[in-house]
Amino acid sequence: MPAVPSTTRILARLTATVWAVVCVTLLTLWALSRSHALAYGRASGTQSWHAAVREDTIWLSRVSEWSDAAAARDGARVAPGARPLISIRRFDVRVGLVTQARDFLIAHAAQLRGHNGPDDPEAAAEERAARDLTTRFHDDLRRSSIPPADPLVAYSTVDVRQTWGVTFEGAWVHAPPDYGPPVLLRAIGIPCWLVAVALGLWPSAAMARHFWRAHRARCRARRRRCPACGYDLRATADPDGPTLARCPECGVASAASTDTEPAEVVR
Ligand SMILES: [Zn+2]
Repeated sequence: MPAVPSTTRILARLTATVWAVVCVTLLTLWALSRSHALAYGRASGTQSWHAAVREDTIWLSRVSEWSDAAAARDGARVAPGARPLISIRRFDVRVGLVTQARDFLIAHAAQLRGHNGPDDPEAAAEERAARDLTTRFHDDLRRSSIPPADPLVAYSTVDVRQTWGVTFEGAWVHAPPDYGPPVLLRAIGIPCWLVAVALGLWPSAAMARHFWRAHRARCRARRRRCPACGYDLRATADPDGPTLARCPECGVASAASTDTEPAEVVR
């Protein structure tokens, strides 16, 4: 009759499989993080939660103080990949200039249409230029990060702390793509290598235990002791005498009874 695997064995195999999948996923994301900004976000009320992997680091963040639920949903879509956190001096002045130029172009286009009719090509060109201004400003900022991602612009001083390679950040930031009113970012950055080491601890310990047990069983078998509990299996006081087939302490079959080769004699 084939042996039925116990629940513990099934659970152990399942855990090992899940563990292996997690490890492979991590390694894949880690490799991809060098050329891509991978991200996922969810909004809840006026907050958004994000997970992102970029440049060998896993970022988990929460952005609060979005103006409303719709802004939070937009933020959940855009902000997770938004990295790095950059600080631009007089950022408000720059955004102000872009807004001012855009408003001027739109007003001028309306004026041209008033003069030359609704199909005026010059007015259409100015409106296009007005739209492009914001996009170009955004793209300029985007170029500042490697791999390219929409940067978060720090509004004031950034509170950064590092412990054991893990980064903790807190800052008021302008979020892409329109860099509107500041929102509060709280983020934790965990290096991929640290997660890999943590994930490797359990399999390493299990493997070490396996080899240690195998080594101990071999040593015990050489000394004609039970491979499981170490009980002396010599049937008689004679060191070269016969060995018991089964351990009287724990019932495990002795190495001598399973081996086809004669047991090594230790003098
Ligand atoms: Zn035993």
